[in-house]
Amino acid sequence: MNDCIFCKIAAGEIPCDEVYGDAEFLAFRDLNPQAPTHVLVIPRRHVSALTDLTEADTVMAGGLQVVAAKVAAQLGLAESGYRFVINCGDDGCQTVPHLHLHLLGGRALGWPPG
Ligand code: AMP
Repeated sequence: MNDCIFCKIAAGEIPCDEVYGDAEFLAFRDLNPQAPTHVLVIPRRHVSALTDLTEADTVMAGGLQVVAAKVAAQLGLAESGYRFVINCGDDGCQTVPHLHLHLLGGRALGWPPG
């Protein structure tokens, strides 16, 4: 997608604070962190939102979580715990239309979300 900011980050056209990258996924620190550790994990391939996933995306969607759990461990969060969040659409507060998983940790998080 030509005008997608996360596609541009994945392509290296816009800089990011990368914490993990492989052929399929990229993880980088959120510009506006909501916790001491706030990392976004994205598939490099453009998928707009959870609502666009099909059965063909099953492996990718699972891989996104496996990579995020690996990043959480890499960042020292495995013992204290953490949260994954994927916002979807307007009510879900999604602002960037490229699928991304928020990895939040480093403090006790509130529940339920507001
Ligand atoms: P969401 O509201 O779930 O769509 O989350 C989008 C997230 O992307 C927000 O937490 C933003 O702070 C973050 N964000 C937007 N642009 C960038 C960027 N260039 N680098 C890092 N994080 C970004």
